[in-house]
Amino acid sequence: MCGIVAYVGPKEAYPVILKGLKRLEYRGYDSAGVALLSDELKVYKKKGMVADLEESLVGKDLHAHIGIGHTRWATHGEPSDRNAHPHRSASGKLAMIHNGIIENYGQLKQELANKGYSFSSDTDTEVLLHFIDDIRENNHCTLEEAIRIALRRVTGAYVIVILDTESPDTLIAARKGSPLVIGIGKGEHYLASDASPIIEYTKEVVYVNDYELAIIKPDELILKNLGNEKLTPYVQKLDMELAAIEKGGYEHFMLKEIFEQPHTIYDCLRGRLDISSGKILMSGVEQHIEQLKNANRIIMVACGTSWHAGLVAEYIFEELCRIPVEVEYASEFRYRNPVIHKGDVIIAISQSGETADTLVAIEKAKEQGALIFGVLNVVGSSIARTSHAGAYTHAGPEIGVASTKAFTAQLAVLTMIALKLAKEKGTIDEKRYLHLLTELHDIPEKVQVILEQTENIKKIAEKYADARDFLYLGRGYNFPVALEGALKLKEISYIHAEGYPAAEMKHGPIALVDETLPVVFVATRDAYHEKIISNMQEIKARKGMVLAVISEGDETITKMADDVMVVPVCDEIVAPMLNVIPMQLLAYYIGVYKGLNVDKPRNLAKSVTVE
Ligand code: GLU
Repeated sequence: MCGIVAYVGPKEAYPVILKGLKRLEYRGYDSAGVALLSDELKVYKKKGMVADLEESLVGKDLHAHIGIGHTRWATHGEPSDRNAHPHRSASGKLAMIHNGIIENYGQLKQELANKGYSFSSDTDTEVLLHFIDDIRENNHCTLEEAIRIALRRVTGAYVIVILDTESPDTLIAARKGSPLVIGIGKGEHYLASDASPIIEYTKEVVYVNDYELAIIKPDELILKNLGNEKLTPYVQKLDMELAAIEKGGYEHFMLKEIFEQPHTIYDCLRGRLDISSGKILMSGVEQHIEQLKNANRIIMVACGTSWHAGLVAEYIFEELCRIPVEVEYASEFRYRNPVIHKGDVIIAISQSGETADTLVAIEKAKEQGALIFGVLNVVGSSIARTSHAGAYTHAGPEIGVASTKAFTAQLAVLTMIALKLAKEKGTIDEKRYLHLLTELHDIPEKVQVILEQTENIKKIAEKYADARDFLYLGRGYNFPVALEGALKLKEISYIHAEGYPAAEMKHGPIALVDETLPVVFVATRDAYHEKIISNMQEIKARKGMVLAVISEGDETITKMADDVMVVPVCDEIVAPMLNVIPMQLLAYYIGVYKGLNVDKPRNLAKSVTVE
């Protein structure tokens, strides 16, 4: 996610912070800002690039030896000057930057509003800042104590860094779930989301852990836990190059993003899926619940990988909610003359929220009276602004051009929406509903189990990397996974690949099968298991090579297939989130094996803003 930089020491803080923010640009962001403290507290922030901020500050008083800087990736409130960080407290004494999400901000906001607080942004960050400020002012305690009290009530993920006019030589930072590194210089300290802004000044760093608070002065670093006990900072020597730091130690952004999925899926479920109460909380769905649950028809409109997420969702919504679903390529939908009625709901799925075809398609459907619901990764994007409501995927910026973590987050969001609607409509029985909640809740852990088998998938990739064509087959929920597997391979390795419903293979593609054709079966245990085994036999009988994604313990397919990639057992409805992981890794390693630029495949753009 976004970037945090802070400095305290003898140097001028602004140039250090600005350079640091530029170093963090690779992470993706939508606005930037700095707060500098000298005689007074100065806060400057701007929507757009760090360079736009820099330009707007020419001629301003930027002198300070302590300061904080931020690049924001909006989660609460559109990208705008007012929502950009740092935020200021009502007392005017504090400025704060924040990376992450405060889940219970709604409740805290209400409490603060009742006390007379007003808000100058739509962010969860400002709520937390007012909350801390309120505790300090009313309890007459130190800022440190106020932060500790506040953080005990907060749920979510965060790194915060606060500047305080009452302690003009001290930065206070705290972390839970988002990264924070402190660089130790000579009589100075640097803070950042990763070591890339720090590395040119010092190699000595401390990684702050969850539930720790750091009190940082030019020549002092105190680390405490939330119980106010002092901890001994563990100083490490940085031995990574800049490029490696940016990629979190991974060789490519794509691999980093594949490996982020246990976290991104968790972040997507966080604050929404409440196992203890058996509830799914999604305000976008709640606001339009009547229209959604009484929809005559749902039309999923999307392109590329997002279209595959729509196909999975078609199966889930029809099964659980008993609402007819159509899945449309946005580029086709916008140019034909689709029949749309008032009771129709359009679910627009897009990572960037800027996909040109999807945007025009929903504008057209909106004119005809449909409710538009966005499933998007980028807050405040064009599709978000055009939609009546939506649910963000919270996967964080995706830098690799071939989508990975955005896809699994889309599936997580769509599954939650379907479960919520099914519960409201009464089309799912309580036992199955609760079972599926648990299944969804367990997905991040199971993704982690698959990632631990990466070495095996790497070997398989090398074995088949010279193939000219690939066929990907699946049935039911696994059919769209087969399509997505084939798409990943095409994008990353430039090998021709086709995805097909496994049975449909007999109506054409089977003519391609010979001993040179690898056929990837997505064949985890589900209602069609026996049937897909028959399809596998048909391929084997024609000497095709079979690679199969199978459920743990599937001896039958293990014996039949040339190679297997094993995933943990799960309900078929959530299986696509697991089964796509080996597909992503297979494509990635074949691309790497062929020496290709997997992060930026030829001819492709990350966000397709042309039709
Ligand atoms: N949730 C905060 C916001 O929307 C911080 C987002 C970030 O990590 O940049 O402003």
